[in-house]
Amino acid sequence: MRRPFTTYFLAFIFLILAACQTSDPRPTATNVVLPTATDMPPTAVSTAAIVTEEPTTTPTETVEAAETPISLVFDGDSAYDFLLEQMEFGPRFPGSPGHEEVGDYIVEQLAALSWEVEEQTFPYQDITGRNIIGRANEGVGPVIILGAHYDTRAIADQTPDSAEPVPGAVDGASGVAVLLELARTLDLELINREIWLAFFDVEDNGNNGLPGYDWIVGSTYMAENLTIDPEAMILVDMIGDADQQLYYEGNSDQELQARIWAIAAELGYEAYFIQELKYTMIDDHLPFAERGIPAVDIIDFDYPYWHTVDDTADKASPESLLRVGRTLEVWLETGIDG
Ligand SMILES: [Zn+2]
Repeated sequence: MRRPFTTYFLAFIFLILAACQTSDPRPTATNVVLPTATDMPPTAVSTAAIVTEEPTTTPTETVEAAETPISLVFDGDSAYDFLLEQMEFGPRFPGSPGHEEVGDYIVEQLAALSWEVEEQTFPYQDITGRNIIGRANEGVGPVIILGAHYDTRAIADQTPDSAEPVPGAVDGASGVAVLLELARTLDLELINREIWLAFFDVEDNGNNGLPGYDWIVGSTYMAENLTIDPEAMILVDMIGDADQQLYYEGNSDQELQARIWAIAAELGYEAYFIQELKYTMIDDHLPFAERGIPAVDIIDFDYPYWHTVDDTADKASPESLLRVGRTLEVWLETGIDG
């Protein structure tokens, strides 16, 4: 990733859409009530009543759903361990030993956590690219795809005169870490959807990261070869920055984005999930969005160590991973139909 291009035009469109949303008479049912400190143990949560209003002339009908308690069990320290384990493989750009090793590692972790694993290979330049898909709840309902790229950038070209590779703690390992911790902790029985955890290859070597490489190659291949019509796609990229700032992103689905950011606010994370448009990214959500799939990029592009030799594990934090992970945990377990 890529090329941010914030334009007045997109900001204008966004404002129009935001204005439309606020005038929507339907209540936004945010089910979850609970402040959660980042270092608290797993927290029991009860959903509030869900209220629906019939847009008819008959008396308004109010439906109160049964309370469905969930436990928030996504663990920031465990996610951070998944990040550290990836860093032990060294640089993970296509063609490097660490790249092959981290792919095998992801496959092993998913299998150990009882997710069904598919390795989707594709020829690219002089390598064989490999997307990895973990599946659960097959056939239970529409497909939700959660994605992250696992490759890292071969050249730290934001470090002056550097020919070194990017270590990729935040830009690479942090998104993968959140997906693996979700694989470990999601309560699948609460989710009436089929879940895909998509680990994209060949995302991060465009613009001469590697000679002739483009951006978002693996995700483009996956999106072009879908045989199902996903209900939604959520990307997590560069979310592990200890100084976390997650703004709305301009190529994301506005309604779904607002829904996820509202859940984060309910969890007490509104200072980190900032409800303002800032960047518009070419990122792994784009091939899905271009096919009409509601897609959202959760990304912190205000990361000073982006594509530098200093993108190391000390720049990430368990708390940042936890905020993103628990937001997705709540969305998946209680909030998709919100
Ligand atoms: Zn990158």
